[in-house]
Amino acid sequence: MNTVVATSPLTIQIHEADNVAIVANDGGLPAGTVLPSGLVLKDKVPQGHKVALVDLPAEAAVLRYNVPIGYAVQPIEAGSWVHERLLRMPEARELEGLPKATVKPAPLPALEGYTFEGFRNADGSVGTRNILGITTTVQCVAGVVEFAVKRIKSEMLPLYPHVDDVVSLEHTYGCGVAIDAPDAIIPIRTLRNISLNPNFGGEVMVVSLGCEKLQPERLMPPGVIPISDQRDEHAGLDVVCLQDNEHVGFMSMVESIMKTARRHLERLNARRRETVPASELVVGVQCGGSDAFSGVTANPAVGFCADLLVRVGATVMFSENTEVRDGIAQLTSRASTPEVADAMIREMAWYDAYLQRGSVDRSANTTPGNKKGGLSNIVEKAMGSIVKSGSAPISGVLSPGDKLNGQRGLIYAATPASDFICGTLQLAAGMNMHVFTTGRGTPYGLAECPVIKVATRSDLARRWHDLMDINAGLIADGEKSIAEMGWEMFQMMLDVASGRRTWAERHQLHNALVLFNPAPVT
Ligand code: CA
Repeated sequence: MNTVVATSPLTIQIHEADNVAIVANDGGLPAGTVLPSGLVLKDKVPQGHKVALVDLPAEAAVLRYNVPIGYAVQPIEAGSWVHERLLRMPEARELEGLPKATVKPAPLPALEGYTFEGFRNADGSVGTRNILGITTTVQCVAGVVEFAVKRIKSEMLPLYPHVDDVVSLEHTYGCGVAIDAPDAIIPIRTLRNISLNPNFGGEVMVVSLGCEKLQPERLMPPGVIPISDQRDEHAGLDVVCLQDNEHVGFMSMVESIMKTARRHLERLNARRRETVPASELVVGVQCGGSDAFSGVTANPAVGFCADLLVRVGATVMFSENTEVRDGIAQLTSRASTPEVADAMIREMAWYDAYLQRGSVDRSANTTPGNKKGGLSNIVEKAMGSIVKSGSAPISGVLSPGDKLNGQRGLIYAATPASDFICGTLQLAAGMNMHVFTTGRGTPYGLAECPVIKVATRSDLARRWHDLMDINAGLIADGEKSIAEMGWEMFQMMLDVASGRRTWAERHQLHNALVLFNPAPVT
């Protein structure tokens, strides 16, 4: 990457072969500005938007990341603003004939000696938080559980100082759905696997209504919950069923939930943090509210950090099908084996068919905010999104709602790009640390797992000083390198994993769990 550092003006060209650069200055640059190269701007170019570095004839490929992000619909003079109306978007790459495991990067040298203070679980996983998660089978019970959780927090939690929080795993699934449809497996296994997230310490309790389609035994079949040696051997599935005859009136339901919660709180409260190797981190990365800086500052720093995580033996998941689809050839060639490449192709083909069923408009991702931030189309957005994955080989692929099963290294967890659905599916996969980059700004947070938020621009980091945990805009300002920012992020992950709270945690900003249900509702 080529950053031209100057007091002003400042442009960023990602790859030396690129024929456009983006304007980095706050507020953009006016027409007539002379760039350090001598090029004079023909138009006013907003911040994050592209300027043509050379004369582009009609039909010329516009290159960013050394990839055609579009074709000029008319001749574009050097120094002009290259906005989305001047570009024809390339077609999506066919899934046939893709290169498979062709790129063999030199193995990254192992990093040793990094640790954090985590909660070790009976199944071998490690929590970064010690939370009581209350699983629900159906939305019908949500109000009652919410009421009970408020009382548990105010009356009981102060008695259990080693428990971080109590969280209701609320969702809109469970009834009124085609529960035997083949794709129903996705929301069902998502809910099951979220209940088993490392941050819940293996303490599963379920609140059920009674008549719902998603019965507790279907959600949690026998054998799913590992019984730890600390538990009594009769500990089966711990269910509070609101329709049970024992419940007379609302308050008796609340009392039942509180009584059951107490047993789990006692066990959780007996746990302590212990020093564990950094390899126990399971980091989910994603981006939302992206701008043209996402792929220049925050996402490359996340990519550098992802390589550090792979080097310590940890697990890093990247996701967001629609944001990697246009870079599929890069990813199948980076797969560690042809089988992993085939699994990537299988997930993309499934998702293509899913989108086609709904007659999706390919131009619907990018959002209006993305475009305002300078991203012309999904191809440009995809290139900036994929850099979050760093440079390691892709060692595994998870289907939506699947849980990691001992895989380490860089994993592609197939999810929609929707922030809430992606985060929910990464929780199901077993994420114990979340990193979220944003350029336009989002106050995103999860109750189940710490979220480190990374601003792509200094302007956003300044305005949202008590929401953004890291300012990767310093890269565009020329004050920090991508490597320095990546190391800073890695260190912050170890601190947050050990209990340091993120801004979203301090303000208790929690977005809803949103299940991915590709099956019909009834
Ligand atoms: Ca996203």
